[in-house]
Amino acid sequence: MPDSLAAGLSEVVADAARVLTAPAVLDRLSHDFYWYSPVLRPKLVGKKGDVAVQPVNVDEVLGVLRFAGERGVPVTIRGAGTGNYGQCVPLEGGIILDLSLMDQLEQITPDGVAVCQPGLRLGALETEARKRGWELRMYPSTLVKASVGGFLAGGSGGIGSVSHGGLRDFDTVRAFEVVTMEEKPRVVLHEGAAVHEILHAWGTNGVLTRIWFALAPAVEWTQMTAAFETYDQGFSFTESIAVNPVWTKRLATVFEWPIPFFFTPVKQVVRADKTLALVMIATAQVEALRAAALAAGGEVTFAGAYEGPRTQPLLSDYTWNHTTLWAMKADPAYTYLQCGFSPTECRDQFRLLRERYGQEILFHIEFMKNGDGVVVPGAIPVVRFTTEERLNDMIAYCRSIGVFVANPHVNYLEDGGRFRPDNIQLLAKQKYDPRGLLNPGKMISFRKQAVTR
Ligand SMILES: Cc1cc2nc3c(=O)[nH]c(=O)nc-3n(C[C@H](O)[C@H](O)[C@H](O)COP(=O)(O)OP(=O)(O)OC[C@H]3O[C@@H](n4cnc5c(N)ncnc54)[C@H](O)[C@@H]3O)c2cc1C
Repeated sequence: MPDSLAAGLSEVVADAARVLTAPAVLDRLSHDFYWYSPVLRPKLVGKKGDVAVQPVNVDEVLGVLRFAGERGVPVTIRGAGTGNYGQCVPLEGGIILDLSLMDQLEQITPDGVAVCQPGLRLGALETEARKRGWELRMYPSTLVKASVGGFLAGGSGGIGSVSHGGLRDFDTVRAFEVVTMEEKPRVVLHEGAAVHEILHAWGTNGVLTRIWFALAPAVEWTQMTAAFETYDQGFSFTESIAVNPVWTKRLATVFEWPIPFFFTPVKQVVRADKTLALVMIATAQVEALRAAALAAGGEVTFAGAYEGPRTQPLLSDYTWNHTTLWAMKADPAYTYLQCGFSPTECRDQFRLLRERYGQEILFHIEFMKNGDGVVVPGAIPVVRFTTEERLNDMIAYCRSIGVFVANPHVNYLEDGGRFRPDNIQLLAKQKYDPRGLLNPGKMISFRKQAVTR
């Protein structure tokens, strides 16, 4: 079967060298960072596509989907493979549609919208945009590697979200063209509210092939860290910066001790036993921020210009889900949760969690603006893993005290925190992929429905 698939696909794309069958290559293209989760690790290990194909244009994507549809073969889309939950791990084999060669930036419009192919790397877009007076509104801490298409289909927000919200908010994703997996695959333009049918649907209901992604005017940024005696001090200082619109910021992050201890390459910015605050602030406001940190009892431990993705040290490499990576490097028993604390009740929520779980949960806060324009304490706490039952107990307890949890230890959309209650992603799957061939197994409500039909 893999041989006949490869032979057939070689007829579909212009160059047979873009059909890949080497076992080591298939292995690499079948995985992402699911191993962050001790729960997903044993479930996904060994899952693999049968063949990979690298289209270079939309006609080839159409051809691959037509070919797969006629044979009833599953297709799993891959951007850069930096997702966390096995989003691009093929559960049922089939074709891996690797979009990394569709990486062209078509244009940046005069009003700051990047028009690009899905495989364009976010880091390349940030660099190019800044040359022209624009920058990404938000990006994951995997900026350098991750693709625009993978971010839209699998990500949620990141650096910049404290001012610009998540991918779902404020029309950041203006439009995209999607190739469908209907009997006759076609290209459908989604604009405005229609983007939410496909956004963050893990490639289960269409292939993004052309994207209109809104940027923000570029700002001259400085990365600053400050150490605080207590978590409460560090949190309150960072919160005061995050919620006050006077400050122009791109990051407002807090790590309670011992998380900063894990940041070995930048230990010069860390102070033993202290909470670390990390703010990316407009350079014009650096001195005011320094004074605010001092007034709040902090010691400024670093201030340095951000000069694009190649900045050294690039402190965003320690934020968002990179924080978990550093913790796991220090001790593989660590894993994580993705939480949203209440802006008004968070101190009580922190206390309750500490009382119940002690140092099993360590607070790592990423402030972000929600769709209503309110800045809230998002969080990617570092969690010491013992058993799946204990982890589930922590998730259930968080929810019982009003802490939102997007569970990163499941491999399907519905419990991942971004599934739409209005079901439009499911409705789009019924319409655009009625045979369930795109990334099968990742949208369980579709599967359940097919079984009971
Ligand atoms: C250390 C670390 C830090 C991270 N930090 C963040 C963060 O701050 N914020 C955040 O949101 N995420 C974060 N992530 C998750 C991930 O890096 C981002 O979401 C990233 O943008 C995914 O892009 P990718 O190109 O690697 O996508 P992939 O992993 O290749 O794909 C992600 C999903 O999108 C689908 N897909 C890919 N391309 C397309 C397409 N063109 N059309 C339709 N579906 C497609 C895939 O099938 C898959 O389901 C982090 C991950 C790691 C390992």
